[in-house]
Amino acid sequence: MCSVGDAFEVDISGDAELCDYVCNECGKEFKGLGKNLRCPVCHSTNVKQR
Ligand SMILES: [Zn+2]
Repeated sequence: MCSVGDAFEVDISGDAELCDYVCNECGKEFKGLGKNLRCPVCHSTNVKQR
């Protein structure tokens, strides 16, 4: 399958706050909600909050 980074999004409803995260695998910085996060580039769950 073709996996393009920006096709991978969490379902954001309402006024949930986005936090900044960084991927421990590839170093990608992205915003997400506090659980079940994945890197938008490599889809790793090995991410940390900044
Ligand atoms: Zn990554």
